[in-house]
Amino acid sequence: MLMSRFYYKCRDIGFDCSWEINAPTSKDVWAKVRIHNRYAHNEFEIPPEIEEKITKAIQEK
Ligand SMILES: [Zn+2]
Repeated sequence: MLMSRFYYKCRDIGFDCSWEINAPTSKDVWAKVRIHNRYAHNEFEIPPEIEEKITKAIQEK
């Protein structure tokens, strides 16, 4: 049984933004981050360097 959750805070990668998310899998976190970045930060495609930062910022707890 999977008990952990994955957490991500937008400000952890340097955005001045209070948005945060948690989900049962990192894949779910990513899906929501992509939508958020598109609408809140005008990032239709996440650049590789930002993708790397997001990957490091996602915490499993
Ligand atoms: Zn944000």
